[in-house]
Amino acid sequence: MGKRWLGLLAAGLLAVGALVVPAAPAMAAPTFKVPFPCGQSWSGQTRTNHSPAYSIDFNRTDDLGDPVVASAPGTVDRVTDLGGTSYGKYVRISHAGGYHTYYAHLNGFNVSVGQAVGYGKVIGWVGSTGGSTGPHLHYEQRLNGADIQVRFNGALALYWGTKNYSSDNGCGSSSGSGTVNTAGTPLTVRSGPGTGYAAVGTVADGTRVTIQCQTSGTSVTGTYGTSTIWDRIGAGRFIADAYVYTGSDGYIPGVPRC
Ligand SMILES: [Zn+2]
Repeated sequence: MGKRWLGLLAAGLLAVGALVVPAAPAMAAPTFKVPFPCGQSWSGQTRTNHSPAYSIDFNRTDDLGDPVVASAPGTVDRVTDLGGTSYGKYVRISHAGGYHTYYAHLNGFNVSVGQAVGYGKVIGWVGSTGGSTGPHLHYEQRLNGADIQVRFNGALALYWGTKNYSSDNGCGSSSGSGTVNTAGTPLTVRSGPGTGYAAVGTVADGTRVTIQCQTSGTSVTGTYGTSTIWDRIGAGRFIADAYVYTGSDGYIPGVPRC
């Protein structure tokens, strides 16, 4: 009888008289996203000699100082500098259901302990602090403290090897918007942030556009003065911010850098 009772407990059931009440199911994992701004592609490497084993090291060309964003909504519970060892400068975010994410070897911090963060929130910048031999982001997901295999949008990361991960982190929630304002002529859309990139279309004067992210490119003089800011309005689609009314003179607060 004692064994039977333990068995019921182990199955997550509580016997109350004649009633059998199922225990609350384990909370679903948050929907974790690639820890970089919307639209970016990063090479993520897993390897069996990594510590902890299921961590991912992320890189892309010239990545020192690139923004790192929260993988999922949560609360920052560590902003720590371990100096020249281990994680170096790292941020930990606490998520619902006992999950944590770790972001290590950062160049600097953009959040503080206790701060609530959402998708796309820049928490720091890629660096090479601590036990690191070159700039990269060391990233972990943990459940109740234990290292777990990383999932993005529910899909398991590649174990073991190197794979490109494309970010849809904050694509909707942290975008900005603006209105194209030319002297009537359509505004040229470029494949990259500069006049040297290929023209891939036009946007009519007066069009309301969604700005996924902003970056620095060639200097353009337009309706709102001279600016090096370019607005990404779609995949491979950039327009000069000098022709867009956004309500901000510089970068739009809350909109990520591309
Ligand atoms: Zn690592």
